[in-house]
Amino acid sequence: MKKISLLAVLLVACSALSYGWGFFGHKLIHQLAIYNLPKQLQGFYFKHQDYIISKSVRPDERRNDDPTEAPRHYIDIDVYGEEAVHTMPEAWEAAATRYTPDTLLKYGIVPWHVVVMQKRLTNAFRQQNLDSILYYSADLGHYIADAHVPLHTTVNYDGQLTNQKGLHSLWESKLPEQFAHTYKLEAKQAQHLANPEEEIWKVVRHTYSLTPQTLADEQEASKGFTTATKFDEVERYGKMRQYYSDAFAKAYQERLGPMVEQQMSAAAQEVANFWYTAWVDGGKPDMEKLMYEKLTKTEKKQLKQEKKAFRKGKLFDKNLIVAAQATE
Ligand SMILES: [Zn+2]
Repeated sequence: MKKISLLAVLLVACSALSYGWGFFGHKLIHQLAIYNLPKQLQGFYFKHQDYIISKSVRPDERRNDDPTEAPRHYIDIDVYGEEAVHTMPEAWEAAATRYTPDTLLKYGIVPWHVVVMQKRLTNAFRQQNLDSILYYSADLGHYIADAHVPLHTTVNYDGQLTNQKGLHSLWESKLPEQFAHTYKLEAKQAQHLANPEEEIWKVVRHTYSLTPQTLADEQEASKGFTTATKFDEVERYGKMRQYYSDAFAKAYQERLGPMVEQQMSAAAQEVANFWYTAWVDGGKPDMEKLMYEKLTKTEKKQLKQEKKAFRKGKLFDKNLIVAAQATE
């Protein structure tokens, strides 16, 4: 455990640069998604887990040079009204007719982009193009994971409208980095989705339903803190900045209860569901045959051990979290 906390410090140092789940959360979600896959796909994804896990953060990195990238990671659904999460047309064409494409782009398009990526991944399976399968799997998983973060569904995305600035990275980076080793991360085998579009909207509606608690619990937790105990002053890029303190993160985590771990588990589950659905809809190509290289005996054994550790909640204890190892 001592090792993990040192890693957590290093990870926190990186997290200011990240969006979405933070690099640690995204990598962990992609790793867990692999354990949820059925046999026909699992070997392939496990063989390429280094790529899948490391590229889980590529869409965030792309935001630095591609101005069209940012809106793909969120949807500020409440700018369209309080009920909009239930009334927004799920199909892009219908939504664009009602609000114009420019408006949709301005306030974020994550559910629609997930549908686009899903189609690309399905095509990649249909064409049996391994490089494209890996590429779109990593990207698609990222956007699905982002759709599970409450502050990715509201215009008050950083608590900036309610004097809670910094809440975004507290929820999605600091909490997972500090507490993931205590989370109960659950999973069941991937399911085929009859309608991926409907599914991602179901995800967005549930995620959005968590925003009031996300904001309110920060205010409740703040009651036991002063500015000096709630925040740490940290020098970064030559400027003094304020970040939530470890003690406050602990108080906030306790108030939220299992919210973050449940969203993390749900994200990993959905990523696996979407990958599996693309494979089924792409004609169920035989991945064993397509693979450049088969799993070695050692890799098979390793996969078995990891799955067992995952089922028993021992991935952290056994130092099997790739996102944590990568920073060593
Ligand atoms: Zn993102």
